[in-house]
Amino acid sequence: MHSFTFTDVADILGVKPLQQYSNPVIETLLTDSRKLLLVEGVLFFAISSNQKNADDFIAPLYKNGVRCFIIQDHFNTSVLPQFPEANFIKVHDVIMALQQIAARHRREFQYPVIGITGSNGKTIVKEWLYHLLHEAHDIVRSPKSYNSQVGVPLSVWQMNEVHNLGIFEAGISRPGEMQQLQPIIDPSIGVISYIGDAHAEGFENLSQKISEKLQLFIHSKKLIYCADDELLHSTISNFIKTSNPSLQTFSWSTTKTADLVVNSITKKDAGSVVKVKYAGGNFDYFIPFEDDASVHNSLTCCSVLLAMNIAPDFIAVRMSLLRAVEMRLELKQGINNCAIINDSYSADINSLAIAMDFLMQQQQHTKHTVILSDVLQSGQEDNVLYKNIATVFEQKGLHRFIGIGPNITSHANAFAALKEKTFFLSTEDFLKQLPSFHFNDETILLKGARVFRFETISRALEQKMHETVLEINLSALRNNFKVYKQQLNKNVKLMAMVKAFSYGSGSHEIAGLLQHAGADYLAVAYADEGVELRKAGVRLPIMVMNTEEAGFDTIVNYALEPELYSFKILHSFYNYLEQHQIAKYPVHIKLDTGMHRLGFEPADVLPLCNVLKEAGRFTIQSVFSHLVASDDSSHDAFTNEQAKQFEAMVAEMEKVFGSPMLKHIANTSAIHRRPDLQYDMVRLGIGLYGVDPDIHMQQRLQNVTTLKTTISQIKKVKAGESVGYSRKGMVTKDSVIATVRIGYADGYPRSMSNGAGKMLVNGQLAPVIGNVCMDMTMLDITGLDAEETDEVMVFGQQLPVSKMATWGNTIAYEILTNISRRVRRVYYEE
Ligand SMILES: *Cc1c(COP(=O)(O)O)cnc(C)c1O
Repeated sequence: MHSFTFTDVADILGVKPLQQYSNPVIETLLTDSRKLLLVEGVLFFAISSNQKNADDFIAPLYKNGVRCFIIQDHFNTSVLPQFPEANFIKVHDVIMALQQIAARHRREFQYPVIGITGSNGKTIVKEWLYHLLHEAHDIVRSPKSYNSQVGVPLSVWQMNEVHNLGIFEAGISRPGEMQQLQPIIDPSIGVISYIGDAHAEGFENLSQKISEKLQLFIHSKKLIYCADDELLHSTISNFIKTSNPSLQTFSWSTTKTADLVVNSITKKDAGSVVKVKYAGGNFDYFIPFEDDASVHNSLTCCSVLLAMNIAPDFIAVRMSLLRAVEMRLELKQGINNCAIINDSYSADINSLAIAMDFLMQQQQHTKHTVILSDVLQSGQEDNVLYKNIATVFEQKGLHRFIGIGPNITSHANAFAALKEKTFFLSTEDFLKQLPSFHFNDETILLKGARVFRFETISRALEQKMHETVLEINLSALRNNFKVYKQQLNKNVKLMAMVKAFSYGSGSHEIAGLLQHAGADYLAVAYADEGVELRKAGVRLPIMVMNTEEAGFDTIVNYALEPELYSFKILHSFYNYLEQHQIAKYPVHIKLDTGMHRLGFEPADVLPLCNVLKEAGRFTIQSVFSHLVASDDSSHDAFTNEQAKQFEAMVAEMEKVFGSPMLKHIANTSAIHRRPDLQYDMVRLGIGLYGVDPDIHMQQRLQNVTTLKTTISQIKKVKAGESVGYSRKGMVTKDSVIATVRIGYADGYPRSMSNGAGKMLVNGQLAPVIGNVCMDMTMLDITGLDAEETDEVMVFGQQLPVSKMATWGNTIAYEILTNISRRVRRVYYEE
C-alpha cells in the first residue's frame, strides 16, 4: 500500500518543516479536532476562521498524542517548546495545503472516478450510483454530503488500492472554487445531477454558475447530463469547443434527440415506470418513487450506467431495488427511556467517526451502547480495522458493544478489552435475544451496512407514539449558530437562549449541541430548565432570568447563575448567601432601559452598587439590558436612547467597582442590524431556530423545525352539510375533507379555524375547514391528490412558521413555544 510520511508531505507542499521530531506515516487527515478517533498517523490541519483560532486546538490534541500539524503563518512559534515531540509544517493557506496533499494522493490511482456536480441531487445520485454499482465494483465514495473545499479532499483521501471505482461529489458557492477541486477529484466520468435556478447566489448569473461547475470536467473523457435544459446544453457545447475538445457527452432528454430518449413516465404501484429508447432499441425500468426529482435522478443514473456499457437488463433489475437515501442521523425516543441514534444507512469507517461524535455529544445518559454490523469495503485489513474500531470504543469509554455479522464475529477477540460485548451472526439472531438485553436509560447507536437491515432493530427499540412529530434538524441549527457567529465583532461572546424548552425545540438535545458548537453561555427562563440541562451533563454557565426566592437552593445546588432585577430579589438572595456562608456567587444584573418589564432603573444604580460591593457575596458576571424593538428601523432612535442609557448606567457602576464589566444588550435582530451594540456578548434566540425578520439573514438561515402530522380519515361531504363543532364549516359544494391528527392541545392555534390557516398536503395548500378541535383539525382537500395516512406539513421548509404565524395574527415565537410536550420530537443530523 502506498503511503506518505510526514517528510513526503513537506515535499509535496514544497516547504521545509518548521520543526521535525519524527517521521510517521500519515494515515488520517483531521480538520475538526472533535472528530479525533485514533491518534496514530493523524495529521491535523489548523484551519482558522474569523471566529476560531485553530491553534488553540493544538495543545489538547498534542496532549492526546497527535504529533503532526499543518499550521498557518500567524502561528506563534514561541510556543514550540511546549510541543517537543511534534512535527510542524507552516504554510500560507492551510486549506490549500490539504487540497494539494489530496490531489497528490489522487494521482496514485488509475481506476475510473465519477465526479458529480449540480445544484441539487448530487448526494442522491452519488448514493444511487453506489447502490446500482456496488455489487460489481469496489467503490470508494464521499461520506454523506462531503462536497466542500474541505470535504472533497477528505473524501478523496479514502482512495485506496482495494477499490476499483471512485464516486465523489463537488459543490461550490463561488467562482474559482471548482478549479481547486478539479485536480483532487480529476474525474474520468463527469455527471451533472441537476441545475436549478436555486442558489445562484454567489454567481453573476446562471450561465456563469454552469461554466464554473463545468471546470470539474476539464480533463474528463465523458460527461452525462440532461439535455432538456437549453442553457446547460448550449454551455456544454461551448465548453467542449473551448476547453476540452475530446470530451464525449452522453445526454438524456424527454423532449429532443439525445443518447437516451424518454418515451413515457407513468406513475404506478407507488412508483414510476420509465420507458426509454436507447441505441435503436427500447427498454423500461421501474423505480419505487413517484416524485419528479427521483425520476430525474434515476434517468441520470441510468445514463451513467449505459455510458459505462452496462446492460439494460441489469439496470432494470437494480433500479427496482433503489431505496430512499437516509442521509440523516436521527435521535429518537426509545423504549425504557433510551435514546436511539439510527444510522442504518452505512457502516464505513468515516461515517462511524461522524456517528461516534454524535453519540458522545448525547449526554442525557451516562451509558452508551453501540450496535455495529460488519464494516464493508473499508480498504483496511479486517484484523487492523476491527482492532482500530475497538481502540476507539475503549478511548471513548463505551459501555456496551454488540457486533452483528459473520465477519465482525470472527474478529471478536479484537474487542477483548471491552467489558460488555456480545456477537451475533445475523440481525435475526440478535432480534431473538433482544429482550434479554434489558435496554434502559442509555443512548444506543445503531450503525449497520444496508444488507443487515438495522431498521428492523430500530423499529423494535423505538417508542410508538401519536403520529404528530416535530422534527428538529440539528445540522441546520448548527449552521444558523455559525451564521450569527460570523456576524460578531472580534472577541464578542455568544449567549444562546434556550428558554422555554429552547423555543419549543428541546432541552439538552439543543443545549448539548450549542455547547459542542462553541456557545459561551446559555440562558433559561426558570431554574428548573437549568436543572434539566445540568442533569443531562451540560457544563456551560447558565443564566436564569426569572429568579424566584423559592428557587435559590436549586440555583446554588446546580451551579446556575441568577439574574438579579430588583432590590427585593437582590436582598433576599444576599440573605440566602449570608445564611449559607457563600461568597462571590456569580450573578447577572438586569438594567431597565425602556422595556419596563424587569430591571433596575437609573436612580437605583448607586444603592445597587452599595449592596453588591458589601462583603463580597457576589461576583458580577455581567450587566445587561434588553432592546424593545431592535428589529424595527422606525424605532432606531428609541434603540439608540436605550443604548445611551445603558452605557451611562454601566459607566456609573464601573466607576464604583473600578473595573470593566461584561456588557450585553443585543438579541437576534440587533446582532445583524446593530453591530455597534454587540458590546462584549450577544444573546441569540429566535435566529438559532431559523427565524430572522431581516430578509438577508433569513436567506442564510436554514429551516430547523418541521411540524408534521398525518391524515387519519378522508370523507366526501355533500353541499349543504357542515364540518366540525358549531357547524362553522359550511360546505357549499360537494367536497373532500381530510381529518388530521393535530389540534389546539398540540399547539395548533384555534385562530387557524375556518380557512385562516392552511397546511401542506403532498405539497399542496389545503385550508382548514370549520373550527380547530382539541386533538384534530379538518382540511378541505377537494381536488387535491391525497390519501389516508399521507403526511401533512403544518410548517417547515416549504411553509415557514412565520407565514403560519401571520395567519393566526401572532408571531413565530408563540407558535414554536406552544407546541405541546405530547408532540414527539425527532432530532436528526444531515
Ligand atoms: C428571549 C430573550 C432574548 C432573545 O431574543 P430573540 O429575539 O429571540 O433573539 C434575548 N434577551 C432576553 C432578555 C430575552 O428574554
